Amino acid sequence: MTDTTIDTDFTHDPEAKSWVESANGHPDFPVQNLPLGVFCPSDGNPRGGMAIGDMILDLGDIAGLLELEAATAARLAGQSTLNELLDRGPDSLRALRQGVFKLLTDEDKKSAVEAALHKAKDCQLYLPVTVGDYTDFYTGIHHAENIGSLFRPDNPLLPNYKYVPIGYHGRSSSIRLSGVDVKRPSGQKKPAEEGAEPSFGPSARLDYELEMAIWVGRGNALGHPIPIGEAEEHIAGISILNDWSARDIQAWEYQPLGPFLAKNFHSSISPWIVTMDALAPFRTAQPARPAGDPKPLEYLFDERDQATGAFGITMEVFIATAKMREDGEAPHKLSSGPMTAMYWTAAQLIAHHSVGGCNLRSGDLLGTGTLTSGEEGGEGSLIELTQGGKKAITLPNGETRTFLEDGDEVIITAFAEKDGFARIGLGECRAVING
Ligand code: CA
Repeated sequence: MTDTTIDTDFTHDPEAKSWVESANGHPDFPVQNLPLGVFCPSDGNPRGGMAIGDMILDLGDIAGLLELEAATAARLAGQSTLNELLDRGPDSLRALRQGVFKLLTDEDKKSAVEAALHKAKDCQLYLPVTVGDYTDFYTGIHHAENIGSLFRPDNPLLPNYKYVPIGYHGRSSSIRLSGVDVKRPSGQKKPAEEGAEPSFGPSARLDYELEMAIWVGRGNALGHPIPIGEAEEHIAGISILNDWSARDIQAWEYQPLGPFLAKNFHSSISPWIVTMDALAPFRTAQPARPAGDPKPLEYLFDERDQATGAFGITMEVFIATAKMREDGEAPHKLSSGPMTAMYWTAAQLIAHHSVGGCNLRSGDLLGTGTLTSGEEGGEGSLIELTQGGKKAITLPNGETRTFLEDGDEVIITAFAEKDGFARIGLGECRAVING
């Protein structure tokens, strides 16, 4: 029988404590997480770091305290983007994680390491990598069914869906870190009746999409596909992604070539890359396909991937309107659901993306597509929550929404919890809509 767990090591010990006090019991960044990002203290240049509790560890600064591969990795992390570090592959990331874990859990190392720690609240965060390419997939089958039935009532799920991991090449230049305002796009909007002229103006159906980001680590050469069994070695980790979408622009432009301006004006990403090693305890079996669904073609099928290829992560979406923030009200939860809503695994996305010879590069971003759980309260977008804008939702203060209004803030969080392990989180991905 195929083993259904991924190996863990001393860095996953739930009893491990750090001398960085704020890390112990931290909901997102205990010492068992150690996610990678790029930050800048008030007096310096952007450089790579790891989140630990309420602090950020400057990796370049502690390279001299590490040995061999861990030291090399820390020096690479000292740069203003982490592309080169991620390109070195999983062994290097693991050496760095293990080396830093030892430093942060050994009281004797405190005096040597302390100066490399910065209070996160005093630091500016940056995109962790230079994103060369961004591909957005469509792995949320419940979302695909919901959207399909709104856009094509008689033909919601096209026949290729269960064979091909559907995706499109997105726009990397407009990816911004969490916290950067989103300017409402203008564009051509679908005519109210068939045959009429389209209108032009600001999108009136602006939406969020609850997604996760998969970061490519080591790339592949052009013409050399990545076999499914090796695909995970090319994944560095994951973050939270909000693929903002203008539904009225989308409805008019999406046929025959797919999304374009409806989705290229801004995508928001959370700052920290949670590595595959940090996620090891939370890996889980890919949910069985419903009876009657085809088995994936051979290049997309691997027993081990089916047994461990999914992520046991919970995602949550909140809204805070301008009025709610003014009144000091807490954000309101719109939905939540598991990342296992993916019909395809991350490894299948890597294998499929490269199967024709396409070269992936370190720092490339793969979006999962909107992850809707299929349960009530698990809708990953407003177009689903409001049934295409026909049924407004009412917020606790009486305000109503069909789509996003200026001043609305959308906040997505994600975390992993499992008995016998420390909870880790991905932080948050938030942004305010600005007219
Ligand atoms: Ca999307």
